[in-house]
Amino acid sequence: MKKDKIWLSPPHMGGSELKYIQEAFDTNWVSQHGSNIDEFEKSLENYLGNNSFVTALSSGTAAIHLALSLLDVKEGDFVICQSFTFVASANPILYQKAIPVFVDSESSTWNMCPNALEDAVKYCISQGKKPKAIIAVSAYGMPFMVDEILEISRKYEIPVIEDSAEALGSNYKGKSCGTFGDLSIISFNGNKIITTSGGGALISKSKIDKNKELFLATQAKDNKDYYSHSEIGYNYRMSNISAGIGRGQMEVLEDRIKQKREIHDFYKEILKDIEGVNLFSAPNENFYSNYWLNTILIDKKYLIKENIREFFLQNNLETRYLWNPMHLQPLYSKYKFFGNNFSGIIFDNGMCLPSGTNLTDTCRNRIFETFKKIKH
Ligand SMILES: *Cc1c(COP(=O)(O)O)cnc(C)c1O
Repeated sequence: MKKDKIWLSPPHMGGSELKYIQEAFDTNWVSQHGSNIDEFEKSLENYLGNNSFVTALSSGTAAIHLALSLLDVKEGDFVICQSFTFVASANPILYQKAIPVFVDSESSTWNMCPNALEDAVKYCISQGKKPKAIIAVSAYGMPFMVDEILEISRKYEIPVIEDSAEALGSNYKGKSCGTFGDLSIISFNGNKIITTSGGGALISKSKIDKNKELFLATQAKDNKDYYSHSEIGYNYRMSNISAGIGRGQMEVLEDRIKQKREIHDFYKEILKDIEGVNLFSAPNENFYSNYWLNTILIDKKYLIKENIREFFLQNNLETRYLWNPMHLQPLYSKYKFFGNNFSGIIFDNGMCLPSGTNLTDTCRNRIFETFKKIKH
């Protein structure tokens, strides 16, 4: 008999989600207003701290798109974006008909390389246009080199959009990811550390920004008695039903972070004697990762990546490739790229391992046994 599938990072409900959905039904607030939205936003603001203002939206992608709109990114503008990421970080640049400029990763966090970023900024300036934004990502939950990236942002006065879609619960020097950007985003997609079934949030530093976000996210209706519109708006608000799930999930966020980090320790333990498999971990104590997904690099001298993938598949264990960097994507390869293709090399040699917070001891054993059987 085939064993149950072990997924990469499945949704993991906490208990109160249904209660909050029921509340929405009971009060008939089933649309884009209601106490679930208010409470969900409040709990995120409390959790993130640092005077954050949170707008709950229909997706992380919508949050990035709104961030670009707020920063007045228009046709022909340059926007710098980390290459090693999920495609949703970059697509909103094209929605705005702006021009993406991609930046490679460095080896300590796998995120935006400050040197390559500065080269990219200088290139854009040499073309007569300062970039309108820098999209920096905390991939797999690992914070990017915050101090170094923010220093460049300040030096050239270019705002940072922090894509912390995968990094809720991570921090850098004790400060929460999702609070470093001029605008920051989080995703609540189904496989993220907590989910609203689908959703996202945009985080800003002022009530004025939040009001502007709400305005744009709800069709940009002018303050008139009749329908009057002077700007392009969107239908990007989160529903009060989804927010009910999020409200319940916030109650277990701390547990989920603990569980994710504990799974990382599990991998550290079982992989230490397996030659040719290197678990990716935080470079030092300044970087506190939620370890949304555990990732490994495989040394070709000892092991063949495709064999491992195949072997895991036979045992019904889901693995995934790492993000295939944007500069190598058919959609994006024609755009400028700065760096040495470190991200391309880790894509070639890396893999994501099952990291679900509901991973049982039996599942852990299966993973351990599978690793032990891999032929060297
Ligand atoms: C998931 C993700 C997004 C998009 O979030 P959605 O809520 O799925 O739209 C953006 N950036 C990164 C890095 C992601 O992992």
